[in-house]
Amino acid sequence: MNEKNDQPVCPECGCGPEIFVPRPEPWPKMCPDCWSKHLSYRNELARQSDNKRAQRALEAALAEGGLCGRSLSMTITSYQPPTPAARVVFERVQLYDYEHNLIILGRAGAGKTHLITGLLLKFCTQLSRTFLSATLSGLTRAYRSIAATKGETETSAFDFIASRKLLAIHDTDTRTLTDAERSLLHDLVDHRWQRRLPILLTANATPDAFSEQLGNPICSRLFEDAWPFDGLPYGVLDHEDFRLQSFTNAKQ
Ligand SMILES: [Zn+2]
Repeated sequence: MNEKNDQPVCPECGCGPEIFVPRPEPWPKMCPDCWSKHLSYRNELARQSDNKRAQRALEAALAEGGLCGRSLSMTITSYQPPTPAARVVFERVQLYDYEHNLIILGRAGAGKTHLITGLLLKFCTQLSRTFLSATLSGLTRAYRSIAATKGETETSAFDFIASRKLLAIHDTDTRTLTDAERSLLHDLVDHRWQRRLPILLTANATPDAFSEQLGNPICSRLFEDAWPFDGLPYGVLDHEDFRLQSFTNAKQ
């Protein structure tokens, strides 16, 4: 402690006994002004470190759900509907309630993944809920590898996938599903149908091809609780491939 004329002074600002009255520990050894500045500085540091911790936790939750890198920019608000028909689908998707299944059909690059990813980002960042985002083939591989690497049974791997509050399956395309894919999809759809847990699903297929590919038992469960698009259980985005378009534009 500095001394001025044998009087105690605040070590921070040097103010004298008219303001600074030293008190025994644990009282702070500075004047009330300096102490309140010190406290707000300390709170600010704590707030910044809480923010960093929250940000890291959020990034970890997003990565665990399967979203990282490019996906993080695919927010609902950054989606630009390329056609009037796509705008109609976009407006319905914006009203989505996270309780129904949501199915979007369309060509590769039509923006299906962007819309679904936007919904997942909102679900995780604003509602703090767990999700899993994967392709059907990725999900089937993950299902087998979770079981293999963790030495767990396939049942517990299934439980992990099935326990996510929201499950997004991207691009079941028009090829014939493998037996493993069909069986996993059937079990997941049935499990979620029983518990009223939603699935977001995109497919690079026409409505007819989609129904034919998945078959009636899966489709009837998916469609029963589906978010309606103008009376249909799916939205259809169908326009020129914008990834290809921007590639062509860039080359010109
Ligand atoms: Zn002071």
